[in-house]
Amino acid sequence: MIVHKGGQIQVTKNIEEYELFSNDSYYTINTHYLDDKLPKAIQFCRDYYDSKGIYSDCRVKINSTVRTIKKDIELAPNVKFHTHPKGIAVDWKFYDEKLNEIFQTELKQHDYLFKELRKIGITGFGLEGFCTHFDTRDTKAPHEDEYGFYAEWTTF
Ligand SMILES: [Zn+2]
Repeated sequence: MIVHKGGQIQVTKNIEEYELFSNDSYYTINTHYLDDKLPKAIQFCRDYYDSKGIYSDCRVKINSTVRTIKKDIELAPNVKFHTHPKGIAVDWKFYDEKLNEIFQTELKQHDYLFKELRKIGITGFGLEGFCTHFDTRDTKAPHEDEYGFYAEWTTF
């Protein structure tokens, strides 16, 4: 999808276009590409915990989507694949810190939640403190499952 600065399209049930726009101050253009599998995957996570009916706050915050190479190198100088500048990565979290912990623990178990995200097309998983990184890289990665290659738990 093409994301517009300040855009008001309802991208998924709970995510609006403007939330997905780059917050990199070096980025000066008013539009950019973003793989729509990323908001889809985040919405899936929100719906998954919403549907359990035991968490009062399942709201999500998008921390970062598209970044310039300059910003990406500043933030992560040793990174091999710059996925954020390509519009194929997102960093996000649940507002509820407890739920974040539950989510990250569950993700690491490679069960239902992880498999559904693999089905949606997430191929890179990173845990950065309370933040979770998803990307949709199509390069060969260290791990392989029935959906193809994937990378996990590194800082991207
Ligand atoms: Zn990231």
